[in-house]
Amino acid sequence: MTAQPTDPAIYVDRLSRIRVAMEEQQIDTLLLSVGHDLPYLSGYPAMPLERLTMLVVPRDGDATMVIPALEAPRVTEQAGVFGLLPWGETEDPTAIVAKLSAGSKRIAVGDQMWARFLVELLPHMRGVEFTRAVDVVGPLRMAKDHAEIAALTAAGAAVDKIAGELQRGEIELIGRTEAQVSAELSRRILLEGHEKVNFAIVAAGENAASPHHHAGSRVIEPNEIVLCDFGGTMAGYCSDTTRCVFTGEVTPDVAEAYAVLHEAQRAGVTAGTVGTTCEDVDRATRKVIDDAGFGDYFIHRTGHGIGMEEHEDPYIVEGNTLPLEAGHAFSVEPGIYVPGKWGMRLEDIVVATPDGPLILNSSDRSLVSVA
Ligand code: ZN
Ligand code: ZN
Ligand code: ZN
Repeated sequence: MTAQPTDPAIYVDRLSRIRVAMEEQQIDTLLLSVGHDLPYLSGYPAMPLERLTMLVVPRDGDATMVIPALEAPRVTEQAGVFGLLPWGETEDPTAIVAKLSAGSKRIAVGDQMWARFLVELLPHMRGVEFTRAVDVVGPLRMAKDHAEIAALTAAGAAVDKIAGELQRGEIELIGRTEAQVSAELSRRILLEGHEKVNFAIVAAGENAASPHHHAGSRVIEPNEIVLCDFGGTMAGYCSDTTRCVFTGEVTPDVAEAYAVLHEAQRAGVTAGTVGTTCEDVDRATRKVIDDAGFGDYFIHRTGHGIGMEEHEDPYIVEGNTLPLEAGHAFSVEPGIYVPGKWGMRLEDIVVATPDGPLILNSSDRSLVSVA
């Protein structure tokens, strides 16, 4: 979150498009606090603490950032974007926000605003209808511009380097615990230029059958699968990749399933074209896995959008009829999980472009033997 673009023109443009959406949706005021919509529209990531920071965006008129006085030095007022309104320790910031929003009938609030802020605002705003800001900001945030795609590409390349190191056996596995390997992946994520590690899942053998397994004290043995799913935030944008390696010669049952997984993942990536619905991308991976008889073992959606957040719209899931647009960035990560035995997942980040799917990850997609 340290490297938001500093050119005010970007935020002027984003805010003007936000106001078009507010007009269409009859939203009078947009209230954004902690979370990613705030830096997306202002360049400032609020400290996620108890003191209220709130960007108040009226449909007409200037936006105001209400901010704790002691944090005001972190932000520079941006002409045409927002003005600053610092509040002192003994003032009531909710009253200030309520005053700035006075007369609004419909107010959209950010998903990640603390519940306490909203609860404290409610008595000041009787009769106001509240909606989710994701309907206003989400479509904009989904369609990444060139700078955002470049940031996602750079973050992807950084984790690909680590995947390559893993596949070349440069990260020791056998005899170490999952937690030790997870810590090493995390260290390398930072070394490769990320400002933050978001997760480093390491799951060995039967643990890999739990998609979001928490790396623990399980020691990695010879002749088993090791699933590594890791990513972080680099220059404000996220990376996320999954590769599996095998600590020995791959057994026939695992090899057979992996061939299906690989094929399913390729089908999902290929389906990720402009105009295809999110659910059709999900169906593309699922069909391959279903047809091979592993359908019951694919227990999650195909993927999620990615950008300033690891998981954001659009979600690649049955029921999401949203057609992909140029600039939509998302993961394609089918998995096959056989409880008590093993699990596997293969994940790349893909951007829909007018020229077809652009794959942001390039490390080897096969099940590499690291024995
Ligand atoms: Zn996940
Ligand atoms: Zn992942
Ligand atoms: Zn993912």
